[in-house]
Amino acid sequence: MALPLKAQQTFTYEIPRSMRKSACAGMRALVPLGNRTMTGYIVGTTTSAPATPLKSINQLLDPEPLLDAHMLELTRWAADYYLTSWGLVIRASLPPGIDRSTARFVELTGSTEQLAQETAQLSAAERQILSALEVRRSISLASLKRDWPGGEVERFIQQLVRQKVATLEYRDRLPAVQPARRSVLRLAVDRTKVEAGLDALRRRAPRQSLLLEHLLRSDGAITSQEATGMAGASGVRGLIEKGLIRREEEEVERSPWEGAAITSSAPPELTPAQQVAVRGLLEGLATRAFIPALLYGTTGSGKTEVYLRVIEEVVRQGRQALVLVPEIGLTPLAADRFRSRFADRIALLHSGLSPGERLDQWRRIRRGMAEIVVGARSAIFAPLSRLGFIVVDEEHDSSYKQDSDPRYHARDLALARAKMLQIPVLLGSATPSFESFHRAQEGVYRLFLLPERVEARPLPCMALIDMRQEKARGAPAPRIFSKPLADAIKQTVAKGEQVLIFLNRRGYARLLLCRECGFTMRCPRCSVSLIYHSPDATMRCHYCNYRERPPTRCPKCHGIAFGLLGYGTQQVEEAAKALVPTAALARMDRDTTRRRLAHQQILRKVEQGQTQILIGTQMVGKGHDFPGITLVGILSADTSMQIPDFRAGERTYALLTQVAGRAGRGDRPGQVLVQTYNPDHYCIVAARNNEYEALYRFEMPLRKERGLPPFGFLVLLVVTSRTEQDAQEVADRLAQLLLERAVPPLSFEGPAPAPLYRLKGRYRWQLFAKGPDPEALHRLVRETLAQLPSSERAKIQIDVDPVDLC
Ligand code: ADP
Ligand code: ZN
Repeated sequence: MALPLKAQQTFTYEIPRSMRKSACAGMRALVPLGNRTMTGYIVGTTTSAPATPLKSINQLLDPEPLLDAHMLELTRWAADYYLTSWGLVIRASLPPGIDRSTARFVELTGSTEQLAQETAQLSAAERQILSALEVRRSISLASLKRDWPGGEVERFIQQLVRQKVATLEYRDRLPAVQPARRSVLRLAVDRTKVEAGLDALRRRAPRQSLLLEHLLRSDGAITSQEATGMAGASGVRGLIEKGLIRREEEEVERSPWEGAAITSSAPPELTPAQQVAVRGLLEGLATRAFIPALLYGTTGSGKTEVYLRVIEEVVRQGRQALVLVPEIGLTPLAADRFRSRFADRIALLHSGLSPGERLDQWRRIRRGMAEIVVGARSAIFAPLSRLGFIVVDEEHDSSYKQDSDPRYHARDLALARAKMLQIPVLLGSATPSFESFHRAQEGVYRLFLLPERVEARPLPCMALIDMRQEKARGAPAPRIFSKPLADAIKQTVAKGEQVLIFLNRRGYARLLLCRECGFTMRCPRCSVSLIYHSPDATMRCHYCNYRERPPTRCPKCHGIAFGLLGYGTQQVEEAAKALVPTAALARMDRDTTRRRLAHQQILRKVEQGQTQILIGTQMVGKGHDFPGITLVGILSADTSMQIPDFRAGERTYALLTQVAGRAGRGDRPGQVLVQTYNPDHYCIVAARNNEYEALYRFEMPLRKERGLPPFGFLVLLVVTSRTEQDAQEVADRLAQLLLERAVPPLSFEGPAPAPLYRLKGRYRWQLFAKGPDPEALHRLVRETLAQLPSSERAKIQIDVDPVDLC
């Protein structure tokens, strides 16, 4: 069994005789672990006799395996490569919320009066636990232990149990998500029998006859609700009693399409460049071999059309296709485009779906009812059994990397899956990751180019606005909109066209900074700057939500020039409102898109032209196609260049290009204005001139010298602990062990405090292990960690091929 635990080993359980016929690899089973039970995954069975007596499986949870041999192989490969546990990967590969387990719950049953009188004798923690129990009555022991670490919880609870004030019991945790069912009514007898009695019934009970006629006509089922509406509750009961109809439970599929109609569209004639790519890819398809390819095409060059054409052929051959898109790139528009070509043969998998919809889509795929799956990161695990082609759209996008355990990269798993299945895989991007571009240059990937936008639409023209000059114009505080941008916005709106304003930030305003001494307020727990949050005028930590009132004078030098520097999307919205009061504005950031579907609703309005100015953060920059937007204003080009990450240049280039690419996708040309304090920075210059390869050639030697990707591989090890000393000590110990083992070309850097030094009450120290060969590097890390005595004091987070370094 593989269990979804951090521990990387597998476990052996006995299969009780009654289950032996049905149990097989790929099924889930409820198994005991310590005192509780949890959902595990059968990954193999053996008949050999165990050396020691085994615990048995409690229950099989599935009538048939959820994972086939290929999915078992893929998840296992991922667990090995990402130095994580097989069980965690399997769990990540399945729809969320379907597990069962038991956990110990504490419930307050008796009166706490007696205890209250003794409160003097209770410790502070004990008093807090007690009041938590008084509020919630029943809490899982695990969550109490999490909130009050240090071992006193269990002792105290046992004491409460002895005093008959509380109980401690195992309770079943049922799956959070289950298939949806509804009750329907069907004919219970032959049609002819019903027809024979119908005339008599029409006179005596016309409403009952109406219902029968409906069932005869529709030849199927009717929901109980509809039936009651037609024949009344007593009428329905009467028909059931006569044995003419019967009630049945039926599974219903929760559809993410909300009953929207399918609009079909004729495919356009391919451009010559598209034809070359499609032809090349179809040849690859015919060879039935692992052929990785990169489709490097400008924004709006028709990459999606290439995917669609190849997929058509894949489906025609009776095979299936998987299309990965960035987490929030799967807009209704993008989905509609696939649907208009392939109708109901598509399944969707992304986090915008409700858990129920996600489960139902997954089950449809599992049953072989979908030929094309379009989905975000976790869709790489879609259970397609006839998979013939994988597309990774916007392959450079960092949302393909999961930032919690298991830290897999969906693009890299797509390559692994395609290799296992010996099928082609296509990575597409207007700004390929340097890793992928490098491999294409080296001939490891085939390279297809779409250098021009379709129908010779010009690329938007990008102009830089030097903000230092704006300051010189005498604005007391930095302005949000420079004069050139403000003018352009007004003109664009006056022409009836749409504007996109991009800001790489969140929240109302941002830093409080003293312009005399440079002091900024920082979170005492997370060592990051606090951000001003306008609704309640607090300073808040972006990570742990620590809050504090803003001071009026600088706490350090007592100067009065202490104020907000920079701004957030809300402030941009207000400035835009002031600029063009009549324009319809929309804001798209993490705050306005918290609600499910909110982000899709915003985009729909933009698409329908109801919104004239869209203000947004990163999420607007991803692959959306808004033909009406002719002006894009980028307010904060500098911030992304400042982050301490070796990919900052590559990222900034991608960000600027992708956001700029939202302009002029219709028949009118687009204009992009970029405000920056560093107009000469090579990265901004490259983005303005659309010189991807210039940037690539500039940065490659630096990466090569430092052995960074694509020339080397990295593993990031983050040691976290509640105390600074423990974190540092364990990190030092790890460094020592690495020093003993890391022989060139393997090496390591650190330990150093992580850029986020404190997060959620834990101190963080980090190390990087580095090497040109991933296998040797991962072996080094695995063996080193095995040497480290496991300690309660610190946890180690392993991030293979890290993407976010700060
Ligand atoms: P990309 O995925 O590279 O950003 P898309 O595939 O979205 O580009 O294409 C941009 C626009 O051009 C879309 O509206 C698409 O329908 C249209 N398009 C794509 N290929 C063609 C073509 N060969 N002829 C005409 N229009 C096309
Ligand atoms: Zn914090």
